[in-house]
Amino acid sequence: MNKKAIILNCRVDLLNENEALELSKKSIEEKKNFHIITINPEMIMNAQKNPAFLEIINSSDLNITDGVGVKIALKFQGINQNQIRGVDFSRKLIDLASKNNYRVAFLGAKEEVIQKAKENFLKQYPNLNIVYLRNGYFQDDNEIINNIEASGPQILLVGLGSPKQEEMISKLKDKLHGCVMVGVGGSFDVFSGIVKESPEIYRKLGLEWLYRTLKQPERFKRIFPALPIFLIKCIIDTVKKKG
Ligand code: UDP
Repeated sequence: MNKKAIILNCRVDLLNENEALELSKKSIEEKKNFHIITINPEMIMNAQKNPAFLEIINSSDLNITDGVGVKIALKFQGINQNQIRGVDFSRKLIDLASKNNYRVAFLGAKEEVIQKAKENFLKQYPNLNIVYLRNGYFQDDNEIINNIEASGPQILLVGLGSPKQEEMISKLKDKLHGCVMVGVGGSFDVFSGIVKESPEIYRKLGLEWLYRTLKQPERFKRIFPALPIFLIKCIIDTVKKKG
């Protein structure tokens, strides 16, 4: 099994993108479900006050390091871990699906966004086997769960924002067989081309969060003061454990 670390009681798995993709492929082939969380500081902070969400995080199959804040928190523990960007990882899963003719399902984002994302994926992968697609604005979870179950996906991307997407996956888990399930946040907005991806320079510097905040200033209140508090809590926790 892969190496793990704990950040503020949340499990983080220490592996690279290729290893995560390999494990995903293996679970599909072995017909086992596989819940992947692209974990970031906001989620970890939310888990501090939401025990049910903490339980979801710690019972997932893989928690990959998405946010740069998580990478920094690991560094405090002396661990060098590369960031696995959720958007890039999801793209690679779609590539894997197209190569292996896996059944794919998309849930989340606004109707025009999810339709445009589908169009873009089909331009790149005309043979992509999309068995289910639904925007993320609905009332009745059960109807969605039943429809996804009936479509039998092998890769399911859920972009409802966190913790909604992880809660939805938790409810779906027992209904599916051999399905890789990933909460992808706002990735459909990027896949649709409606939200621009952060330029490479921001990505290299680990400043995607800054770019996204500049483009969508309403995100500011989500990041501050959560991000600095997260880092301070991580430092205190690391010092306590060492002491
Ligand atoms: N969303 C949705 N249903 C909802 C609330 C949000 O489908 O009830 C979508 C929203 O359209 C967006 C995504 O969830 O595409 C959330 O993106 P956000 O940027 O908040 O997520 P992050 O990437 O920060 O996790």
